[in-house]
Amino acid sequence: MKTCQVSIVVPCFNEDEVIEAFHRALISVLEPTRRTFEICYVDDGSSDRTRIRIGSLATADRRVRYTSFSRNFGKEAAMLAGLRMSRGDAVVLMDADLQHPPELLPRMLELRRHGYDQVVARRDRTGEGALRTVLSAAYYRAMGRCMDVEVVDGEGDFRLLSRNAVDAVLAMPETNRFSKGIFSWIGFDTVSFTYQNTQRAAGRSKWGGRRLLNYGIDGLISFNSRPLRLAIHAGLALALAALGYALWIITEVALHGVGVPGYTTLLTAVVALGGIQLATLGIIGEYVGRIYYEAKRRPHYVVRETDESPHLPPVDIPAEVRSDPPVTGVRRPLAGRTGSTAMGASRFRTVRQFIIFGMIGVVNTAVYLTVYVSLNTWIPYLAAHVIGYAVSIVGSFLLNSYITCRTKPTWQAFVRYPLSSVVNLVLTGVLLYLGVSGLGMDKNIAAVAAGILATPFSFLLARWAIDSGAALARQSTGPAESPARPPIP
Ligand code: UDP
Ligand code: MG
Repeated sequence: MKTCQVSIVVPCFNEDEVIEAFHRALISVLEPTRRTFEICYVDDGSSDRTRIRIGSLATADRRVRYTSFSRNFGKEAAMLAGLRMSRGDAVVLMDADLQHPPELLPRMLELRRHGYDQVVARRDRTGEGALRTVLSAAYYRAMGRCMDVEVVDGEGDFRLLSRNAVDAVLAMPETNRFSKGIFSWIGFDTVSFTYQNTQRAAGRSKWGGRRLLNYGIDGLISFNSRPLRLAIHAGLALALAALGYALWIITEVALHGVGVPGYTTLLTAVVALGGIQLATLGIIGEYVGRIYYEAKRRPHYVVRETDESPHLPPVDIPAEVRSDPPVTGVRRPLAGRTGSTAMGASRFRTVRQFIIFGMIGVVNTAVYLTVYVSLNTWIPYLAAHVIGYAVSIVGSFLLNSYITCRTKPTWQAFVRYPLSSVVNLVLTGVLLYLGVSGLGMDKNIAAVAAGILATPFSFLLARWAIDSGAALARQSTGPAESPARPPIP
């Protein structure tokens, strides 16, 4: 291709059902524009026939090019690969599911002719569930306050970028890529217009609740350090509150003599402070985790094949890796994860899980206390205790499955889960006894110490219950239908 005026970059992940319809719609819109164009498909490690379909599209039409990943690396990586492939003076990023209507391309190209470097097609929220609309609106409002860059509700990846803008995006080397923030950060003359949201033509959305939540957190953390500032403010506010409380107690003692110390106050203060400390640790952990990933300087993705590589049956091709950014002509064998890196990663995962487990523990204590306190005026306090305990165990199981272990809860895991509470009860009892009777410790301090010491064991047991339960469920239902691994952040 001599000069190319427009490149269309399309990340595709399991789009077998819709890719050909999309391609036809795209060609029918691009040809009448009388511009030279190329279509760059990026297969993000699809497990269906997407790769084969885009391979045949490329064979049939020289204007079609493609890159296929060795596994699912996430849409951000796929868009990056597409931008690297593109050779056009203008590049348009589009989804493959026809939710980004190709009919809007002429309008985008026209606006480019007026000199805009970024033309953004902004979708409204027609046809979207009420809950998702409300949550998204709240998220964008919060982002508006927190982030160092402006991210607008409805403005996504469907946009045209000039070559200058593409070069600016490609010059940003970060591993944790949050495109919405990157597009805003690079600046340039930008114009946007609104179009009516449509449902995907076929296939399923890959953005479930958890993936969206993680994407949201990525966005919040990638472009600002305000959560850390917030943690400092919360710490200072609490210290001031504690000072005020101490002064009040001293005045009380001076005026009315020594009173009996309140258990509830003590417990509430311990739980609240523990929660805030763990939450702060979690925030710091998120940033440290990101530094850790950035420091590794791993490629954003691994290429399995492109339209330029020889077409051989996938089983016969030894896996090859292309370094990132792609180095033409130099190929080296697939580098396996070294033992030490894998161990480092798993240790990091355990620490992250442990911190989250602790935070969930604090939340559950609060849940238990709330249920217990609200019920014990209506029903016998022991019944309130049992109900509160049961609610907090179920809550802790669900939260630890979804958030700590990032796996779906299973009945097998649920049956094993209370074991960690039983072991915790016995272990804290033994440690309490040793502390009070053996070491002569204060009863309250010994209880707190026993609780802290027993937490790692409870964590390991809870994780075992969830993971082994999930493994058992997988065995009994057979191999999962090629589940897509979540993208590397
Ligand atoms: N996609 C991708 N990799 C992924 C997930 C999605 O390349 O891991 C592609 C997908 O094929 C589609 C686009 O990103 O072209 C948007 O995905 P989807 O339609 O699932 O997202 P939604 O429109 O629901 O936000
Ligand atoms: Mg979609």
